[in-house]
Amino acid sequence: MRPVSESDDDGSRTFLHFDGLPVLSRSAFQLHSFAALNSIQAGHPGFVSDDYLNAISAETSVTALELEAAGMWQRRDEGYFIVADEMVAMMVSHNEEMDRLAAACQTRGAHTEGEDAGAWIICADCGIPLVRPDGGPVALPHGGKLGPDAREGGVAS
Ligand SMILES: [Zn+2]
Repeated sequence: MRPVSESDDDGSRTFLHFDGLPVLSRSAFQLHSFAALNSIQAGHPGFVSDDYLNAISAETSVTALELEAAGMWQRRDEGYFIVADEMVAMMVSHNEEMDRLAAACQTRGAHTEGEDAGAWIICADCGIPLVRPDGGPVALPHGGKLGPDAREGGVAS
């Protein structure tokens, strides 16, 4: 999917438009993506719990309403059900594929240095960064998983 990015006249809000999806604000799209990913990691793909939304420091209720109004989410007991589940399905299979590839590198005990993409070097097999200029997490030695994020402040905003 390649989103088309559109901005308000004053550039204060950016809207993203994916094929087959309604136009959403950037924050709505981000929340949808993160929540979908989290729902998979939490073991209930497609369900976004109120607990999860409440745990996010950013304002989420308006954004959740936007997703509901766009027909992407539906209100359920104690959370939202993700209606636009193609993305969830895509992420599940992407996650599984990534897990499989990462496990293969771990079993082999080495990553494969991919082509030099600028200052980044990515494992040609599993896609984990081996060298990166931004100080973010890189693969642990011997084909390991993604290491800790040395940057302060956690998730970039
Ligand atoms: Zn690898």
